[in-house]
Amino acid sequence: MVVAMLWSAALLSVMGFFYLSHRHAQSLRVHAEIVGHSATAAAVFDSEHDAQDLLRAFSSVPDVDLARLRRPDGSVLAEYRRPGAGPSLWQRVGRVQRLAVPVRANGQTVAWLDVQAQEGELWSTMAALMASLAAVMLVATTFTHLVSHRMRAAVRSAEDRTRFLAHHDELTGLANRARFGTALAQAVATARHHGTPARLLCVDVDDFKQINDTRGHAAGDQALRDLADLLRQLVREGDLVARLGGDEFAVLLTGPHCDGASERVSSELIARLRALSHAQSPCPLRVSMGGCRIPDDARTPDEAMQCADMALYEAKRAGKGTAVAYTPALGELQRDRQRLQQDLHAGIHRGQIELAYQPVFDAAGQVRSVEALARWTHPTRGAIGPAEFIPIAEESGLIVELTLACMARARADIDAWRAAGRQPVPVALNISSRLLLRDTDRARFLGELQTLPLSPHEVEFELTESVLFDDLDNPDSILVRLQAMGYGLAIDDFGTGYSSLAYLRRIRCRKIKIDRLFVAGVATDRDNALMVESIVRVAHSLDMQVVAEGVEHAADRDRLVQLGCDLLQGFGLCEPQTPQALGRWLAGPTP
Ligand code: C2E
Ligand code: CA
Ligand code: CA
Repeated sequence: MVVAMLWSAALLSVMGFFYLSHRHAQSLRVHAEIVGHSATAAAVFDSEHDAQDLLRAFSSVPDVDLARLRRPDGSVLAEYRRPGAGPSLWQRVGRVQRLAVPVRANGQTVAWLDVQAQEGELWSTMAALMASLAAVMLVATTFTHLVSHRMRAAVRSAEDRTRFLAHHDELTGLANRARFGTALAQAVATARHHGTPARLLCVDVDDFKQINDTRGHAAGDQALRDLADLLRQLVREGDLVARLGGDEFAVLLTGPHCDGASERVSSELIARLRALSHAQSPCPLRVSMGGCRIPDDARTPDEAMQCADMALYEAKRAGKGTAVAYTPALGELQRDRQRLQQDLHAGIHRGQIELAYQPVFDAAGQVRSVEALARWTHPTRGAIGPAEFIPIAEESGLIVELTLACMARARADIDAWRAAGRQPVPVALNISSRLLLRDTDRARFLGELQTLPLSPHEVEFELTESVLFDDLDNPDSILVRLQAMGYGLAIDDFGTGYSSLAYLRRIRCRKIKIDRLFVAGVATDRDNALMVESIVRVAHSLDMQVVAEGVEHAADRDRLVQLGCDLLQGFGLCEPQTPQALGRWLAGPTP
C-alpha cells in the first residue's frame, strides 16, 4: 500500500516537473519575444539608452537575472542584471536556462536578445507540490494504517471466536461435544496402551423441560450455566467438563485416582445442588448421573458413551437425582430390555396382547364393573407381566399402539360376551400418562374411541393422579373431554401421588381407587384405617364412589365395607380372569 503510494507520488512529481519546466521555458520565450519585438527601434537606431529602458522590463520576471541586447557583430548594446544578493537557494539548486531571440527589422536580424534565467521558481513550486504530496501521503498512510489496524484486530477477534466456538459451548463456555470426543478418544488410547485408567461421567438434568416450561428459557439457561460452574469447581486440573448439548453434560476424569474423584464429583454435585435448591429455587435443579470406567467397562470411545448412557438411564429409572455406575449386569439388563421392546412392537401387531378382567364388587358381592389388565404372551418367554412391559411401552412410545390394541380387544370381548348372551358390565381401561402427553396421541386415542366405537355405557377409564392434576388447568384436557362425552373416570392408585385431598373438589371424577398400600392390613393397621376413612369422607361429600383395590383378606374386606368403601377389588375376591372365564361371573342369558 505504502509502496504503491510512493510510486504514485514519484510519478506525479516527475510529471509535475516536466509540465512546470515546459511552462517556465515557454513563458520566458514569450517575455523575451515581446521585449525583443519592442527593442527593434532601439536596435535599428543603436540607442543604448532606449535599449536599457526596455531591458528593465525583465525586472518583473522573477527568475531572469541577465538580459543582454547584442549587435549582430557580437558587441553589447545594452544589458540588464538583476540587482541584489546572489541567487536564492532555489536558484542555486535549479538549472540555468539560456535563450537568444533575434530582433528583426524588414526581415533582417538587427540584434540578438540574450536572456538568462534560473529555474528557481520552478523548483520552489516543485518543492511546494512535493510538500503537499508528502502531507497527503502522510495523512493517507496514517489513515490507512489506522483502518487496517482496526480491521486486522476485528478479523483476529472473529478468528479467535470461531476457533473458540469450534471447541466450546457458547452458553456455558465449557468444552463442546467435538472437543470432548477428541479428549475421550485420547483417554481411551492412553488407558489401553499405558494402563492409565479414566472415568466418564454423563450428567443429565432431571425434568429440564419443566424448568423451561414453568420458569422460562432464560431461567433454563441460567440453570445450565449454574450447573456448568458447579461442575467446573468440582473437577481437578487436567479433568475435562463438557456440555454435549441440551441439558446433557459429561465429565472426563483421568489418572490413577479417577475412581475416587468420580465418586466425589457425583456426591458433591448432588449435595451442592440440594443446598442450592433449598436456598433459592421453587423448582429444584436435580441431575442424574451415569458413569463407567475405561478401559475396564469400555474399550472404545463409543462403548464408553454407551456404558455411561446405560448407567444414566438406570439412574433415571431409579428415581432420578442419583448416580449409577455401569456394571456388565446392567448392560445385559438393558440389552434385554431393548430386545423386549422390539418383541413388544412385533407382539402388538401380531395380536399377542390380550386382556384379563378383574371384577369389581359392591358391598353386597355383586360384580359392578371389571378392570381390563393387559397380558402379553411372549412367543418364547411365555407370560410377561404389565409391570415389566408397560414401562417399556411408555419409554419407547409403543404405549399408543398398545392402548389402541387393548381398546380393540375390549371391543371384541364385549361383543363376544354379548353374543354368548351375557350381560356385560362397564370395562375399566387403564390409560397411561404418557399416552396423553402429545396432542397427536390424544387425537388418535379419541378417534379410536369413536371408530370402534366404545360407548360410555361400555367403558370407563382409570387415570393416575398425576395425569389428572397436571391437566387440571387445561380447558382442552383429556379429563374435560372424556367427561363431556359422558365417560366415567376413576383416579387410580390414589394416595401414592403427591396431590392433596383438596384437589379432589376440582376433579369431580366418578370413582377413587385407594391404592393397595393403604388397603393391605387395614383390619389391624390403625393408620391405614384412618387414611381410608378420611378419603371415604371427602369422596362421599363430593359424590364420588370409593374403590378399595388389592383386597386380599376377608377381614380387610369387612373393615373396608365398615369404613364406607363402596366397591372392592382384589385377589381375595377374584383374580383377573380370561375373557371366557369372566363370562361365567357375568349375569347369565336374559330370559
Ligand atoms: P393397576 O392399574 O393398579 O392394576 C391393578 C394391579 O393390581 C393388577 O396388576 C392386578 O392384577 C393387581 N392386583 C389386583 N388385585 C390384587 C391383590 O389383591 N393383590 C395384589 N398384590 N395385586 C393385585 P397387573 O395386572 O400386573 O397390572 C399392573 C399395572 O400395570 C396396573 O396397575 C396398571 O398400572 C398397569 N396396566 C395393566 N394393564 C394396563 C393397560 O392396559 N394399560 C395401561 N396403561 N396400564 C396397564
Ligand atoms: Ca388400574
Ligand atoms: Ca391401581
